Amino acid sequence: MKICLCCEGVCPRRHLDLEKLKQWFKENNCEIIPKTKISKADYIIYIPCGFIYQYFNNAIKRIKQFQGLNPKLIVGGCLWDIDKESINKEFKGKYFTTKNIEKIEKFFPEFKISLGKIPDQNKMSIEDAIYWDKPFIENISTPITLTEKIKNKLNKKPKIFTIRISDGCINNCTYCSHRKAIGNLKSKPLEEIKSEFIKGSQQEYNIFCLTGMDSANYGLDIKTTYPILIKDLIKINPKAKFILDEINPKWFIKYHNELYILCKNKKIKLISIPIQSGNNRILKLMNRQYNSEEVLSKIRILRKKFPKVTIKTQLIIGFPSETEKEFQDSINFVKAGKFYSCHLHPYSEYPNLKSAKINPKIPKEIINTRIQKAIRFFKDNKIHFKAYL
Ligand code: SF4
Repeated sequence: MKICLCCEGVCPRRHLDLEKLKQWFKENNCEIIPKTKISKADYIIYIPCGFIYQYFNNAIKRIKQFQGLNPKLIVGGCLWDIDKESINKEFKGKYFTTKNIEKIEKFFPEFKISLGKIPDQNKMSIEDAIYWDKPFIENISTPITLTEKIKNKLNKKPKIFTIRISDGCINNCTYCSHRKAIGNLKSKPLEEIKSEFIKGSQQEYNIFCLTGMDSANYGLDIKTTYPILIKDLIKINPKAKFILDEINPKWFIKYHNELYILCKNKKIKLISIPIQSGNNRILKLMNRQYNSEEVLSKIRILRKKFPKVTIKTQLIIGFPSETEKEFQDSINFVKAGKFYSCHLHPYSEYPNLKSAKINPKIPKEIINTRIQKAIRFFKDNKIHFKAYL
């Protein structure tokens, strides 16, 4: 059986899900064929993202495009838990969800090897990713240094070994569309992470990306903590350097001393700290549980002492009731924190979000105007950005 797998706009966790499925199909003697030969496949497995409207709508368009091809289509991911009604109206075919990925097994009853036998994967192939045609503006280049790029090219190896350390999330942000899709925090047992880390170290990877929806809440459900995890990994491979993916600023504040020492010891290459807003009133409405001044003061300490550590952030533009001045607070925050880059997401309102009850709503045109203003501001201030319009 010929299978073509692809994902679109997804986070590293869903990309790793796709890699796991790829491995499962291979072990059940299927032939994996590239996107370029998609029409020759017996099945297309497609995992899109639905975090914001733009992604959701794009996913629906892509599903229709795939349905026009001969292969049978199976869709996975978060769409059903984000907006069941909308996706059910558009697609009545086979699907599985992020929380219940094993549901795919029922479409292949003849397979001998179960999905549960396939370990979590650690390499994400860019060949599996489809990129949006538009509208998507970016000017981000990789923060990996030239020497590392050359080294990676020579080794012909993907440069980063990614370890999913947890699934789900412990927070209750009022705007979060995918909380229902990913469920509660479930930390991966330390021993499993260690064994993946040893595997990566033995394959001579030195850069490890630790990924989770809010990575730094790692361990709170299994009586350990994120800093303990990193310290344990460094004991195994002292040469390892880390990319710390998706650190909610509240954990960045709590673990600041530990992160400071890790930066001092040159263990950290990149930290992603999604601030979402630089204004305290909006942060409170978002239920983010930190204040912008405290985050900024801690970011400034790292920035000043360790300028080589890349620090990225994200903003949600047009949260209900956000004023022009509050929007300005957000972009000024990014400048004041000297962030390497900022992803700009327009606020998207799905049914049943807690933020749906907050008024007044910001019209789409104003959200787009603010995003354009943010882009100009970041260009003027030489801050890299990605924006979704
Ligand atoms: S978990 Fe969220 S970010 Fe990841 S693919 Fe699903 S909707 Fe997108």
